[in-house]
Amino acid sequence: MTAAARLADIRHRIARAERTAGRPAGSVTLVAVSKTFGADDVRDVIAAGQRVFGENRVQEAQAKWPHLKAETDGIELHLIGPLQSNKTAEAVALFDVIHTVDRDKIAAAIAAEGVKQGRLPRLFVQVNTGLEEQKAGIDPREAAAFVERCRTEHGLAIEGLMCIPPAEDAPGPHFALLAKLGKDVGVSGLSMGMSSDFEIAIGLGATHVRVGSALFGGRG
Ligand SMILES: *Cc1c(COP(=O)(O)O)cnc(C)c1O
Repeated sequence: MTAAARLADIRHRIARAERTAGRPAGSVTLVAVSKTFGADDVRDVIAAGQRVFGENRVQEAQAKWPHLKAETDGIELHLIGPLQSNKTAEAVALFDVIHTVDRDKIAAAIAAEGVKQGRLPRLFVQVNTGLEEQKAGIDPREAAAFVERCRTEHGLAIEGLMCIPPAEDAPGPHFALLAKLGKDVGVSGLSMGMSSDFEIAIGLGATHVRVGSALFGGRG
């Protein structure tokens, strides 16, 4: 299958899941996760019409995206992987959306860079819904207070919440928890769902699905 055919298939499945859930057409944004794939693979997907992309490492994105962005109008780049505070300046300069705000130190660093650079990405707070020790994200019990501190102490608007359910769990309860937390804290964005479960996520309210392997092929 070509990149264009895979993209058409995923868009079709997103549209069908929107209809099934009784949600308006176009309410879900596809974030095409291009991590580990080279510029030529990305160009095929851009040529097929995709403009919103996700990367999980700042350094890899810096090597790949400045020229891809310069080549094409309307690219929107999302950081979906953990952000270290020593990479904040680069991340604020390159990304249009950051999905992984999860602690005060990072929120403060993003706010400071926003002032310095006169540019602030849109922001999502990552929630560790499975309470996994090795996984980034704020404890769900602390999410509401953290979002409030982002707003009042750091002066940051938060657009939504993001989660990555534990690989061994059924994803539905994690997506439902994220949706409930989003409602509680008053944000409209929900970044949830990947190649294997994006239709379930759309059924539970996802506004952004992050799809890599189903679009680009296996990462080997
Ligand atoms: C890699 C990655 C994805 C995409 O995963 P696929 O299973 O390839 O669709 C989504 N979200 C995050 C945070 C990732 O790191």
